[in-house]
Amino acid sequence: MKHLLSIADLTREEIVSILDTAVSMHEVQDRDVKKLPTLRGRTIINFFFEDSTRTRASFEIAGKWMSADTINLTGKGTSISKGESLRDTVLTIDAMGVDMMIVRHPASGAPAQIADWVDCSIVNAGDGTHEHPSQALLDAYTLRRALGDLDGRHVAIVGDLTHSRVLRSNLLSLRALGAAVTLVAPPTLMPAGVASWAGVDGFETSYDLDEVLPRVDAVMMLRVQRERMSGGYFPTAREYAVTYGLTPRRLALLPDHAVITHPGPMNRGLEISAEAADAARSLVLDQVSAGVAVRMSILYHLLAGEGSTQ
Ligand code: ASP
Repeated sequence: MKHLLSIADLTREEIVSILDTAVSMHEVQDRDVKKLPTLRGRTIINFFFEDSTRTRASFEIAGKWMSADTINLTGKGTSISKGESLRDTVLTIDAMGVDMMIVRHPASGAPAQIADWVDCSIVNAGDGTHEHPSQALLDAYTLRRALGDLDGRHVAIVGDLTHSRVLRSNLLSLRALGAAVTLVAPPTLMPAGVASWAGVDGFETSYDLDEVLPRVDAVMMLRVQRERMSGGYFPTAREYAVTYGLTPRRLALLPDHAVITHPGPMNRGLEISAEAADAARSLVLDQVSAGVAVRMSILYHLLAGEGSTQ
């Protein structure tokens, strides 16, 4: 495994291996001295052309805890703003001898294109509306911790599906792990031809959240991505919250054991109420904590693990 560009590139065994290794990486978080020597002498560039809180910070922490040298670049502070092409910029960074670039970019497919140009490993940290593989892996890790084996479990993915890159990655990983998935969105935010769009089958779609909630083991709420919307996808924010938000009334529809996830950042009061976000069954902060461990495992698999080409 040299790159992590899409969950579609991973076998079920590779997904499970990343999740299993993350369990031991997670123990580092509870130590006073959070440092493993594994990636000493390795250099990792976080190259973020789009805003990020969780993904950027946790990849940086993951690299530092594994003793790699980590550097952060954004589109703004680099020569991209002087008109340098993306290709010239990444070839420049690659020529410095870095081992890995972790790339977030507003264009779907940009990390895969960069992987074709450079010699170092590329991790897709979110590309447009395409994929966000490390998010899906940390979501699967969090759900496995809460529910055990995901084979046969039922997960509803709810919200602005059209603009979400988290959706496709999660759909692929949850199906690979044997979970049943129901996608729930208003008709305007359900991707057209979703079955061929996702490149995976064996899931349901629904416009009726109230009907789906009593049947789930987990509900994954996705953010309404206003920054990617050009038109009106729903009449008002209030109407969206009433029809597709995880309101206090809907919380009561969930089975007792069911858990709630959200990749963040949350729009409280829109797709998720404060009551749901802060409920005991909400795993939002567990996801953040898992994010560091799972990203350490990703770095391990790409730069230090068996089968690494480095
Ligand atoms: N943080 C996730 C992403 O970058 C989810 C979101 O922004 O809604 O895709």
